[in-house]
Amino acid sequence: MRVVKEGDKGKAICEFCGLSTTTYALRDVDFSDKRGTVKNIIVGVCDKCGGVASIPSQSVPQIKYEYNKTLKPLETRVPAHFIDILNLAIKKIDNELDENFSKTLFLYYLHNFSTGKFSNKNLSELLDSEMAKAKSSKRFSIKISKRTEREIDIFINHSGLKSKSDLVKIIILTINNDIVQASLPKHLSELKKLAAVYQ
Ligand SMILES: [Zn+2]
Repeated sequence: MRVVKEGDKGKAICEFCGLSTTTYALRDVDFSDKRGTVKNIIVGVCDKCGGVASIPSQSVPQIKYEYNKTLKPLETRVPAHFIDILNLAIKKIDNELDENFSKTLFLYYLHNFSTGKFSNKNLSELLDSEMAKAKSSKRFSIKISKRTEREIDIFINHSGLKSKSDLVKIIILTINNDIVQASLPKHLSELKKLAAVYQ
């Protein structure tokens, strides 16, 4: 692969000028879906109009990293005691942790469910349990990456759940069974390791 430097010359088809000579320079480039901008990447700048005419392959990994970092809110409403369950679980994992660890805890369960490491049989039965019978009066909100968003969509499709809201509820109800109600909490050593990295 040819690696270009700032100031090198090239050729590209500019969308405004057609075939043009270009000069490689640093520019900010917007994602095509307008979710954000990658700052200061080497691109081929059209010598005629000054617009971005080409993106060399060496700049593609950085664009992908930045794109995967753009975060989107996952927001849903849950019964008030669901937030308490998360807080109790967090304190049981490590008393020093705060409520921000609920995102890590949620993603840990999501990932293990979606990779099949945790059984996802009969998950939807949890939604009919006594613990689930309450009005959803609180907000559960975390910021998730594009990659997590894909993981959630794939898991919902495969598991036959109806919505993201059901997924959030199932994960919190599982955390209740696994950690809050359990005299020997499950996955504790792994979660403690995550907590150590998180702090
Ligand atoms: Zn041009």
